Amino acid sequence: MNDTAKPTAEQQRTRTGLDKDALKRAYLDNLFYLRGRFLEVATTNDLYMAAAYTVRDRMLARWIKSAQTYKDTNARTVCYLSAEFLLGPHLLNNLVNLGITDTARAAGEELELDFEAIVEAEEEPGLGNGGLGRLAACYMDSLATLQIPAIGYGIRYEFGIFDQVIVDGWQSERGDTWLKSGNPWEIPRPKLSFPVGFGGHTEQYTDEHGALRMRWLPSMVVNGMAYDTPIMGYGVGNVNLLRLWKSEAPESFDFQAFNVGDYYGAVHAKMEAETISKVLYPNDEPEAGKALRLKQQYFFVSCSLQDMIRLELNNAGTLAHFHEKFAVQLNDTHPSLAVAELMRLLMDEYLMDWTRAWEITRNACHFTNHTLLPEALETWSVHLFERLLPRHLQIIYEINRRFLDEVRVHFFADEARVARMSIIDESFGRRIRMAHLAAVGSKAVNGVAALHTDLLKSTVMHDFYEMWPEKFHNVTNGVTPRRFIAVSNPRLARLITEACGDDRWLRDLACLKQLEEQAEDHGLQAQWRQVKTAAKQDLANWLGERTGFTPDPQTLFDVQAKRIHEYKRQHLSLLHIVWLYEQIKQNPNVELTPRTFIFGGKAAPGYFMAKLIIKLVNAVGEVINNDPQVSGMLRVVFMPDFNVKNGQRLYPAADLSEQISMAGKEASGTGNMKFSMNGALTIGTLDGANVEIRDEVGHDNFFLFGLTAPEVHQRQAEGYRPWEVYHGNEQLKSAVDLIASGLFSHGDTELFRPLTDNLIHSDPFLVLADFQAYVDCQRQVDRAYRAPHHWDRMSILNTARMGKFSSDRSIQDYAERIWGVAPVPIEA
Ligand SMILES: *Cc1c(COP(=O)(O)O)cnc(C)c1O
Repeated sequence: MNDTAKPTAEQQRTRTGLDKDALKRAYLDNLFYLRGRFLEVATTNDLYMAAAYTVRDRMLARWIKSAQTYKDTNARTVCYLSAEFLLGPHLLNNLVNLGITDTARAAGEELELDFEAIVEAEEEPGLGNGGLGRLAACYMDSLATLQIPAIGYGIRYEFGIFDQVIVDGWQSERGDTWLKSGNPWEIPRPKLSFPVGFGGHTEQYTDEHGALRMRWLPSMVVNGMAYDTPIMGYGVGNVNLLRLWKSEAPESFDFQAFNVGDYYGAVHAKMEAETISKVLYPNDEPEAGKALRLKQQYFFVSCSLQDMIRLELNNAGTLAHFHEKFAVQLNDTHPSLAVAELMRLLMDEYLMDWTRAWEITRNACHFTNHTLLPEALETWSVHLFERLLPRHLQIIYEINRRFLDEVRVHFFADEARVARMSIIDESFGRRIRMAHLAAVGSKAVNGVAALHTDLLKSTVMHDFYEMWPEKFHNVTNGVTPRRFIAVSNPRLARLITEACGDDRWLRDLACLKQLEEQAEDHGLQAQWRQVKTAAKQDLANWLGERTGFTPDPQTLFDVQAKRIHEYKRQHLSLLHIVWLYEQIKQNPNVELTPRTFIFGGKAAPGYFMAKLIIKLVNAVGEVINNDPQVSGMLRVVFMPDFNVKNGQRLYPAADLSEQISMAGKEASGTGNMKFSMNGALTIGTLDGANVEIRDEVGHDNFFLFGLTAPEVHQRQAEGYRPWEVYHGNEQLKSAVDLIASGLFSHGDTELFRPLTDNLIHSDPFLVLADFQAYVDCQRQVDRAYRAPHHWDRMSILNTARMGKFSSDRSIQDYAERIWGVAPVPIEA
């Protein structure tokens, strides 16, 4: 950068200073010069935009300095490829990471602004479905905080995850128009764009050195344009880059069509190109007709790799050391085409031979597996590949041919194993197994919790583990304590800082251990309870405004918030609620702890059973909340539109966290960590990271129930007969029957039949098998909550022992064991 273009120290102080007066001046300037408003006439959105620009201005100098330093030091860089980044609102998070929340609040006060309303005005970028996308966002926060050079690569969806509204108890989807009022956090880079081809055919030719080469002549080309969002580390000068791609028609395309007079053809081509980054696909939808999803995956992978190649050529002038410069992390199989695309770019575009290109590819890529659910293991039909990505299909065939030769050497005369391991599944129609492509083309494969990694090694990737045991790692997921404590639960953050003596815990969560020695201190317990009750009151007020029902903060808040899915078993909690209802109706004096059950979560729009579960939550709530006989004892409420922003209201307010998936199904979970960090106790199965959470917080401070993964396996192998469980348990039968009776559906005995029939006759996730253990365990929860000192102690110990579940620890694990990257500190 030209030195004269840099702002002087004096300019920087006034333009981007961090003191209150500088903030006020800058805020008014931004409001006037960027929004054309005075305070008196500004809308809430104007006020928010001016605040966002004021904060962004304070990140830019650090951002440029980070980029420059990373370049000068030629630092090894992590490239995190993810089809989803579920970021959540930026404003407050960036204020916290800059360390100027209090100053900004004071500046706002002097300008007579409503700080909370301005923060509330931000519409979050919902560019993800749930846990997987949120994990990517937590990792971006931790990479910057740990000062590791990193670029997050993904898709700038015009429409993110749908907004959920509840109409007559049913989920209804509304388009997410997060960009309609403008996005102040992103910087468009119109000159930074790459062509991405689709379709067409390949042809062989002889190059000038007489070597046989392939070239791909696509029938359609779109451009990917970069939009950059700065990601600030906490308390450091490092600002990393999130680069999201938007698809556009190449300009030349328009002009060509225009010149031959095909105006509508040109417009159509433009629309087709723009479709690629138009909308985020929801999870759990049937696979049919997802050509667009494959296009999305290839689109962002290709743009990202071309961008890395550009950076490396600028810097080193050669691609020979690409894998030393970049550690590419594939977040699930969605970006696994990177293996084939990097091969294509190196061989076809940069004329490398196969051996060298394969060496680079296999040393650059690393793969995270996120699921064992068979229906979620991604495959694409060979036919679709032939049509959309003919060159990649050739490359995958060749990778597979060479790989299977290796398998045959390793496992002599084991053709069954060769068929199981092949990248091509020949069993029903020919399909490409994306997880196999990623595993073969990666240096490391990791699962996301200890149990999940073990199951990965013993089930879906067993053959691969036997062939390459050293390739497999576990990296247990984590979440960022900046967003999930400091931003969302400031009262708790203050109390922890007071009790620990400083705020080092925000950078080193293991410091929370200090709280242990005060867990029995009645003074701390009283403050701890006050903080929890205040958060519950905040949530109650919010729910009151949105749903018309205001829960009582003195009741136990029992919360299950996550995507709605049968394997997560929201219906197990519902059966417990219906059972409780019957208990109270039969004996109004039964000794129970008054509870409010709060559910939140979206169902995939095409997932009928999940939508029926939402309807049942609301239907049960309607009956129970209107029954005076149980008022004060039992309440049920559904929080609409569970997203990051609403999650931040929920996690601090929970007393009890429901983590009740069927053992073996939840790869890790991260919601479990957010709750526990905020002092909720967990009722849960031995699934995913629950296992490790329980080991960390202490078995006495965790409510464990249910079949273990091996027991589930055994039960199913023996031939599980849910109707026998149903007929053998009076109370369970009566709860199921009450739902089927129409009591919760105005006499309609058909409405919930698909759900109750499924439980009685099939019950693939062993809800009935775990019912009694769950109800018994909930009785222990009841008793524990009635002993406040005991409960508060457990709550404090939960928070105190959550150090392991900071995403900083996860990123440290990746950095040391998988990526081999080191920090490049930038001073704040
Ligand atoms: C953390 C989070 C999740 C993941 O929750 P799990 O309980 O781990 O499934 C999903 N959605 C949002 C909005 C989250 O913040």
